[in-house]
Amino acid sequence: MPETIQKVIDEAKKESSYGFELPVMNEILKQSENNGKLTWTNKQITSCEFCDKKRDYYRYPRSSRYHSKGNKNFDKPIYYSGIKFNEGFVTLKGYGDMCSECCSKHKVKERLIDYIIEHDLKIQVMKNDYKPGRYLRDDIRICYDCGEEMLESQMSKEMTLMGNGYYPSGCPKCGAKSLPFGKSHKTTSKFGYIHNPESLEEVVEMKKLVDEYNKGKQEEEKFWFNQSSNSISSFFVKEKKWSNGNREVIQFGTSSKKFTVGYFYKDKCDEFTEVLLKHGYIENQN
Ligand SMILES: [Zn+2]
Ligand SMILES: [Zn+2]
Repeated sequence: MPETIQKVIDEAKKESSYGFELPVMNEILKQSENNGKLTWTNKQITSCEFCDKKRDYYRYPRSSRYHSKGNKNFDKPIYYSGIKFNEGFVTLKGYGDMCSECCSKHKVKERLIDYIIEHDLKIQVMKNDYKPGRYLRDDIRICYDCGEEMLESQMSKEMTLMGNGYYPSGCPKCGAKSLPFGKSHKTTSKFGYIHNPESLEEVVEMKKLVDEYNKGKQEEEKFWFNQSSNSISSFFVKEKKWSNGNREVIQFGTSSKKFTVGYFYKDKCDEFTEVLLKHGYIENQN
């Protein structure tokens, strides 16, 4: 059998093997396996194949030389709120996978995420309020200087020009840097993966504690849980209230397994420290 035909059969098998009753979900998962990511965006769509939202147009409110009142105005399609999974660089206006109602009715996002986690698929799941994915896609680049392949996670970081974050820059083998107005390492379509620290038990538990703490509180009184933009393995809890900055409650690193309690929270955040101590973390003394 020619290789290409075999490939088509294999792909088709893979697609039906996910076993979702909505074919589009099998299709989405297949794409995600191929590009290592599951993402979605909200967009305006003109029809949904899973409910009665059909392509339709606004009607002319009054007659003119060219049309009668009540006729469809084909320049003005009616848009519905919808969702598109794994949208690439080329986007088609009005086109999506389903409407927002059908997406929540069939729990499409939740079931895709559950499937990925249960089957331990190496797919990066977009940040969401449901569950963090276990893996992060790790892009492979080729150094412009030494020609070696490198994983983005191993590259040294540089601060962005805006000073608001960091980006991967230095080759781990020869140190050559990718710079905004200089040479940069070649991107490839290949990728590996790393474990997503956000899915670690202690991170999930800490996040839950913050949510519980925030319940019923005024916006000002709430805590804020976040991941450092510099290092994906550092997390912090801060006060939302601004008093010469957002006062820190606690900060911890999932790879160093150390935590630091904020100055104003010494002996005041036992519930947080208990979670970390239980997971083998050590307090930084300073
Ligand atoms: Zn629908
Ligand atoms: Zn290099």
